[in-house]
Amino acid sequence: MHSIKHPLNQRPHSSYRGRFAPSPSGLLHFGSLVAAVASFLQAKSNAGNWLVRIEDIDKPREMPGSDKAILNTLEAYGMHWDEPVLYQSEQAVLYRDVLNYLQASQQSYCCRCTRAQIKKSGGIYLGTCKFLHLDNFDTAIRLLNKFPHNEFIDGLQGQVHFDHALAQEDFIIHRRDGLFAYQLAVVVDDIYQGITEVVRGCDLLEPTSRQLSLFKTLNRQAPAYVHIPLAVTDEGYKLSKQNAAPAIDDQNPQPGLIQALDFLGQAPPPELQFESVDSIIVWAIKHWQLRNVPQKTEIHL
Ligand code: GLU
Repeated sequence: MHSIKHPLNQRPHSSYRGRFAPSPSGLLHFGSLVAAVASFLQAKSNAGNWLVRIEDIDKPREMPGSDKAILNTLEAYGMHWDEPVLYQSEQAVLYRDVLNYLQASQQSYCCRCTRAQIKKSGGIYLGTCKFLHLDNFDTAIRLLNKFPHNEFIDGLQGQVHFDHALAQEDFIIHRRDGLFAYQLAVVVDDIYQGITEVVRGCDLLEPTSRQLSLFKTLNRQAPAYVHIPLAVTDEGYKLSKQNAAPAIDDQNPQPGLIQALDFLGQAPPPELQFESVDSIIVWAIKHWQLRNVPQKTEIHL
């Protein structure tokens, strides 16, 4: 195993590096604006760098042009990134190297089980293909999960527990249809970009367990995690591109920005609404208090 070269170097975790990682499957809506604002303010108030990564590994789900539209919206809302935007579609060589590394070091295996088969056996994958030594043809690749994470400490939600069956599952890192899985791409890029803290919505709490297992398997330090409440509709649905949440207004960003600060418990003073976007951002960086963000997994709008 020592002869297999590890493809990922990691810079020492010293200064703060945060990121916002939208998928270009639609325009930004209020829910994703809140995640962008929280990650930006947490980075800036820690004198850190804020990076933007476009997670475009799932071509079929993409909305053409939405990457540019998202970047324009971030700028219109006064959030400027500190390094060139990273596109996951340009990271394929690295993802492939990491997959090869995991295969060569026997920390992954091929699986031909269908979704229907897994559903039939209770919804959790039970390792059916683990000892079959299938070759990599028309199969998915799963991580051999030697480091299940049943819990972790979230910077806002505190101690978070995961169902053991879910935590120990050998999850997919390369899909049968040939696409790299989100779990693999996100972990590789968080290492590659030297991210020290991830601030994102509570819809991604559960995948954190898998991501922590993957960091451990790759023997790289995981970032800290902060999961902020999700904006949900009156009926309890997550605002998302899929349920066509209205895009936010690039021409008139002040009200949305103030609403996002309000949602995040930052109590923006009423007179702030008459200020420019840049002044609102300056105020927000100066007054940002993570501990004032409601410790809830969702908030009804
Ligand atoms: N690209 C993911 C999304 O838009 C976010 C990934 C992450 O923040 O880890 O839901």
